[in-house]
Amino acid sequence: MKTTVVNIVTPDGPVYDSEASMVSVRATSGEMGILPGHIPTVAPLAVGVVRVQTANNKTELVAVSGGFVEIRAEQVTILSPSAEMADSIDLARAKEALKRAETRLQAKKDGVDVKRAEAALSRAINRINVKEGNI
Ligand code: ATP
Repeated sequence: MKTTVVNIVTPDGPVYDSEASMVSVRATSGEMGILPGHIPTVAPLAVGVVRVQTANNKTELVAVSGGFVEIRAEQVTILSPSAEMADSIDLARAKEALKRAETRLQAKKDGVDVKRAEAALSRAINRINVKEGNI
């Protein structure tokens, strides 16, 4: 079976490293399924889940908050401002972040940075979905 190496890296260091038979990512242009031998590509990512089918046939989910994917024939590298495997997501923290963002967006007061609150909202929803396997 052909495989590709998948690395997910953040400014705090590497988060994920595995051999995969397939990887799917959420690019800003839509969902991308990546198989070993894919043509070299770089694409910007949305906040979303990276789904990795590992060489030993497990599916692993990683929440990422945007960034880029660089694809080479035998290597997929994802650079993201933050990334968490399901196991390391703190569900209560994500729910708090969701509540904070919703409150800010509902208040619609002057001084609320709407783009920032929307970005925080989508990171929180993404973490909750990955933690709950709800994707
Ligand atoms: P919060 O308001 O809870 O900090 P945030 O979306 O603003 O959420 P980020 O700026 O995206 O947080 O991430 C900051 C750091 O905290 C990153 O290292 C990220 O992996 C980590 N992180 C954020 N939320 C969680 C969570 N719910 N569980 C585990 N790690 C988290």
